[in-house]
Amino acid sequence: MTVPSHNASTNGQAEDMDIDQENGNPPKKQRLMSKEDLERVMDDIEKHSLDVNEKWYLISLKWWRKVEKVMEDGFIEDITPIDNSKISTRGISGAYYLLPSLVEKMDFIPVPEKSFEKLVDSFGVEDAKRDVIERVVIKDKLRGNILEIYPKVVHVALARDRSKKVTVFLRNDTVGALRDRVLKELNVEAPLDKIRIFVEHEDRFEWLKDMKDDDDVSTLFSAEPTILVDVLDDNGKGFIETKSTLDSATHLMARISRLSLNFLWWLFPAHSFISFIIRKLIYSTNNARYLSHLYRFDNKDENWSANPRYKRGVCGLSNLGNTCFMASAVQCLSNVPEITEYFLSDQYQPDINEANPLGTEGHLAKVYGALMKSMWSGIQESIVPRNFKSVIGKFAPRFSGYAQQDSQELLAFLLDGLHEDLNRIRKKPYVEERDPPEGMGQKEIAEEAWDNYKKRNDSIIVDKVHGQLKSTLVCPICAKISIKFDPFCFLSVPVPAKEVIFRMKIVVMFNPHKKWARFCLGITRSTTVAEVIALINDAFDEKIELVPFTVDVHGKPSIFIDPTQPICGAERSRYDTVYAWQVALPVEGNSLVTVQTMGEHRSKTLPLLFTIPSNSSEEFVKEMTEKEVIPLVKRVFMKGRKKMEDDESEEEINLSEKCVIEVLDCPEGWNVNLKLEDTSILDDIRGTGLIEREKSVPEPKQEVALTDCINLFTKEEQLAEQDSWYCPQCKEHVRAMKKLDIWKLPQVLIVHLKRFQYSRWSREKIDTPVNIPGTDFHLRDILANDSHEDAIYDLIAVSHHMGGLGGGHYTASALNGNTWYYFNDAHVTKTHPPFGASTSPYMLVYRRREPPILHSDGNLDMETDD
Ligand SMILES: [Zn+2]
Repeated sequence: MTVPSHNASTNGQAEDMDIDQENGNPPKKQRLMSKEDLERVMDDIEKHSLDVNEKWYLISLKWWRKVEKVMEDGFIEDITPIDNSKISTRGISGAYYLLPSLVEKMDFIPVPEKSFEKLVDSFGVEDAKRDVIERVVIKDKLRGNILEIYPKVVHVALARDRSKKVTVFLRNDTVGALRDRVLKELNVEAPLDKIRIFVEHEDRFEWLKDMKDDDDVSTLFSAEPTILVDVLDDNGKGFIETKSTLDSATHLMARISRLSLNFLWWLFPAHSFISFIIRKLIYSTNNARYLSHLYRFDNKDENWSANPRYKRGVCGLSNLGNTCFMASAVQCLSNVPEITEYFLSDQYQPDINEANPLGTEGHLAKVYGALMKSMWSGIQESIVPRNFKSVIGKFAPRFSGYAQQDSQELLAFLLDGLHEDLNRIRKKPYVEERDPPEGMGQKEIAEEAWDNYKKRNDSIIVDKVHGQLKSTLVCPICAKISIKFDPFCFLSVPVPAKEVIFRMKIVVMFNPHKKWARFCLGITRSTTVAEVIALINDAFDEKIELVPFTVDVHGKPSIFIDPTQPICGAERSRYDTVYAWQVALPVEGNSLVTVQTMGEHRSKTLPLLFTIPSNSSEEFVKEMTEKEVIPLVKRVFMKGRKKMEDDESEEEINLSEKCVIEVLDCPEGWNVNLKLEDTSILDDIRGTGLIEREKSVPEPKQEVALTDCINLFTKEEQLAEQDSWYCPQCKEHVRAMKKLDIWKLPQVLIVHLKRFQYSRWSREKIDTPVNIPGTDFHLRDILANDSHEDAIYDLIAVSHHMGGLGGGHYTASALNGNTWYYFNDAHVTKTHPPFGASTSPYMLVYRRREPPILHSDGNLDMETDD
């Protein structure tokens, strides 16, 4: 058996590769491969398929990027030894571990064994213990052949003698198979009914008595738990007590006191739990409350305490290793009164639909019901949601494993699973989707769509959480409109990225009689062309017409025509410098003349821009070129111009005679090329002798309102090419204009702030603070449905995400009675309402304020705490 540190899991592989493992020094580079060899290796890595049991090695992307860079423009000798320090961490034992939550192609790349050997041969490794990270291809039931990046392991020890300890890799074991393996490893021979298996937690043990032999063990654990195997003695007594009574605790204490403490320390080296228990027993022997908590191993306890010890629902959920995303989502849902009430009162029992193939045969509903009962029993301060996690892992394997997950995805799975498990429709009827007849009103279309949906979907989740969206598509060619109404469970709204100010250089060529100026402008990604011009005008306290442009490597100008476009938009992401000419007339409503001084292949100088009335003739352009442009070119770009300015009498070069004027009609106006045989008489003066000025847009507002995000969600947009829509009238795929609107709001509205942005090569967390309305959130005005009932909402729960992508931590705030609580895994504390601007809210649960019920005696039915 091996432990999951890098070197140990290589089973001596490192030595086979001539790596000096003793001191971890980089070996000498032996045969430096050629660039062609390296290219071949890179190719092999790209094309290699995943075969079961094959070994692969992980390489930090940071190092790999260096290799790629060398392939582009460097010397292969410059490649340093493989360095995985960015993806490794050193454990207490000195062994190295892969950092958690890493992502392929973002943090590392996997390399097949042969290719890795070649890379090591050629470049070496910095530290063999750290940099040789072996992983094996396994067959996954659902995902096929995969490279197991984070092999799951459990540490197993005998309860009576913890010096006997083994570490076991979890593959696709069943509980039974794992137990048999472990017993063999530990050399334990005992009938199965004499064996109890416990999971050790910080302050207590959890008896896995309900696990069935054929349960998939991989769904049970996500971290590296320590498991204790307890063999009952001849009297049927185990070492770990399991009864949740004071008697058994006293019994344990009696037994401990009979043994010498020293002996105990010897028996349990480096472990503090016994001392913890002893301490607790000594200091709180009369504290029945504590003890019964300590010995309550069974989280499926459905006892309902009539006199709750803890406030009902204020119950933490122990982290089972990166399961905070799950706890956060569950706490949000647990604090939705209507849904929890439905589970606690057993109303869900008759609704369980075991036959629904889209559900989990009722498993999820049952385990969630049991979880709610435990959390709301008032008996426990926190519980271990193992059964729940196990069912989730069984039906959605993506949620098992070490990697940090997404609380919204988990909640989406949970709500969907609960809906199907509790779908009151036993046999879904076939509902034909029809195009609404001409003249049918929106309201009727929406109602028909909702009725059709309800014919197949009828559950507490639909009743409380599902709303309806209106989606409108308009064909840009024939203006055909298509309206559809679809149910929604989450309002997934975009969060605008934080605006940051960055510097852009712009060289402004004022009317050339004045001096030119270079500005250093502080702008944001959304600063428009018009705003840039306004900044410059502002600096000179003068209103002038400017035409900004950039030039490409061939000297060709690219002009910013549309004043409303961001100057650093998506296509024009970055420039060294932007230029601007002062012109006489506004571009709008006039013609633009672009003049280039053409040498053989490229423009010799910066282009010159002029504006002229739009009805000007070609002759006019020619005349202007001769009378105004050429003298200007001469003054600005001709060599030795300073001298000439000083002494007008000296012999002048006649530029008009030396160039051919070519005038071309173009969409924006006119292109004029001054074709010169000898361009050496011209000198490009860009960037010389300029006045420097600085100016910046005001510091952008750093927070957005939640309604801003909702408005972004309902903003009309043009479909991308790959999402194009088949217009039934044009009979072809078109890039339609699409608009989403909220039509019908549910009683419980879940808003998901899309803070995570993924693309093939980049992942980003948008941490713009969003201002969260707490109470009295009026949504009536943003609805597309005029006849919608009043929609005033109050916040009742928030799922928070702190930290960056991949890692980070999830918690939840939720309202219980009139008090807000903060749920941080097993720990729960009172907290302030999570209203206002903050970067952490990720999911928001709002509840519609119902009109107060007026009793016959005229008193309002007020909600009270407890
Ligand atoms: Zn069309």
